[in-house]
Amino acid sequence: MTDRLYDKDAYLQEFDAEVLSCAEGKKGYEIVLDRTAFFPEGGGQPADRGRLDGAEVWDVRDKKEYVVHICDKPLEPGSTVHGKIDWNRRFLHMQQHSGEHILSGIIHRRFGYDNIGFHMGKDFVTVDFSGLLSEEQIEEVEKEANETVFANREIRAEYPTGRELASLEYRSKKEIEGNIRIVTVPGADICACCGTHVRRTGEIGPIKVIADEHYKSGIRLILEIGWKALEDYDRKHRNAKEISAMLSVPPETIAEAVEKQQEQIQTLKNANIALKQKLFIKLAEEIAEGSRKEILFQEDLNSVEVRRLADLVSEKTEFAAVFSGSDEEGYKYVICSNKVDVSVLGKDFNRALNGRGGGKNPMIQGSVQASREEIRKYFADRP
Ligand SMILES: [Zn+2]
Repeated sequence: MTDRLYDKDAYLQEFDAEVLSCAEGKKGYEIVLDRTAFFPEGGGQPADRGRLDGAEVWDVRDKKEYVVHICDKPLEPGSTVHGKIDWNRRFLHMQQHSGEHILSGIIHRRFGYDNIGFHMGKDFVTVDFSGLLSEEQIEEVEKEANETVFANREIRAEYPTGRELASLEYRSKKEIEGNIRIVTVPGADICACCGTHVRRTGEIGPIKVIADEHYKSGIRLILEIGWKALEDYDRKHRNAKEISAMLSVPPETIAEAVEKQQEQIQTLKNANIALKQKLFIKLAEEIAEGSRKEILFQEDLNSVEVRRLADLVSEKTEFAAVFSGSDEEGYKYVICSNKVDVSVLGKDFNRALNGRGGGKNPMIQGSVQASREEIRKYFADRP
C-alpha cells in the first residue's frame, strides 16, 4: 500500500521513498513507491508531474491500494529515491480545485443544484451543474465566491467518525467506500473529496466566470481561477489597450467605439450599394436598342453585384454575360438569355475556360480561370 503524503500535507513538494516495484508498461515504466507526494488523477484534478531521482514522471494513476508513477526511466526496486513534484502546476490545481469547491458549495446552498461534472483543462476550468442559472445569478454567485476568498478562511480536510458523518450535511459526487475525507470551507462548502486544496481561501486568488453554456438540462460554467485568472486578465488587458490605441478612445469605451464604427461601415456600405446601382443603370442605358449580345467586364464586384448588373443588362439584349475579377485570379460570371440555352452553353464554357458553376435557364453563374482575352474570344466565335 502506498502512503499518500499529499493527503496529510498538500504542500509537501519533496520526499524520499522506497521503490516497491518497477515494470515496463505501454506508456513508460510503472513505478510503485511505499510513500508519495504525487497526486494521481482523480475527482476532476489532473495528475502531478515531476521527477523521481533522474526519472521524469509523465503521469500518476490511482490503482486502489497503490499510486502508480509512469516514468521515462526504470528505477531499481528496493532503492531509495528522491521525489520532487512540479509545484507550479500542482499549486495551480490546488487553487482551481479549492475555487471549484467554493463555487459548487454556494450554488448548491443557494439553488440546490449538484455539481455533475468538473474538468481542469489547460486553458480553463469547467464545472457543470444540474440546473440553469441566469446571468444575474451567476454574477451573485461569483461575487459571493470572491468574498469567501477575500475573507481568507481556513480550509480543513478531516476524517470524521461514522457517527459524526451521519449527522453531517455534505456534498458527495458518488458513494465512497472506506474512510470519508470531508473538506470544509467555512460558510461556503462541505464536501467529500480526496483532492489537494490550499490552506486558506485567500491563496485561491480571483474566481472569474468567463462564459456559460447550456449543458444537458443544466449549465456549464467556464472559469478562470487563481494564477490562470491573472493570466487571463493580463491577456485581455493587453488586448483592450491595443484596441483602445487603435480607436483613440479610453479602454473603458472601446465596445461603444466599435459599435459606432460598425454603424459607420454600414452607412458606407449602403452608400456604396446605391452608387453601384446608379452605375449599373447607366451601363445598361448605354446599350444600344436591339442589341443581340453584350459581354461586360466590371472591376471589383461581388457575386450579388455581378448578378444585379447582369439582370439589368439582360433587359436590353438577347444575350448578357457579365464578368468581374482579374486575369491573375480569374473571373466571377453571370450569363443570362431568353434566346440561348445558357444551361447547355455553360457546360461548354466551363469546359473550355477551366470554369465551375452552372444553373437553370435563363440564368447561370460561376467562375472561370481564364484571361479577359480568352473569354472575349470564346464569345466572339459564337453568334
Ligand atoms: Zn476537493
